[in-house]
Amino acid sequence: MNLLLIRLILFAVIFIAGLKLYRMYREWKLDREGPSEGDNAQGNRMVRCSWCQVHLPEDDALRERGDWFCSGDHRDKYLAELKEEEKEKQEQKADKWEQKQQDTKDEQNDKRGD
Ligand SMILES: [Zn+2]
Repeated sequence: MNLLLIRLILFAVIFIAGLKLYRMYREWKLDREGPSEGDNAQGNRMVRCSWCQVHLPEDDALRERGDWFCSGDHRDKYLAELKEEEKEKQEQKADKWEQKQQDTKDEQNDKRGD
């Protein structure tokens, strides 16, 4: 019974060691092959379109304000939506400001009423 357990543990240890060795070998291989494909890999860095979430090579992507886009069309749409959001925020701020003005007027009226 003990022998079986020892064998099992030994097998597990060998299995894990093999897995680690395999990973190390793969990393070593990648490191070695890296330089020869370095230029290619750099040119083919994948980025994501901020509008449709599609992944594409950096070379084919358009960059705007730190965001990537797959086409000028999507860039325009994204920027248009950004502007729209900014407008809405500004309008909300304006609304709040007006509301405040109205409140202070009401308070003043209340004081006069007393
Ligand atoms: Zn897109």
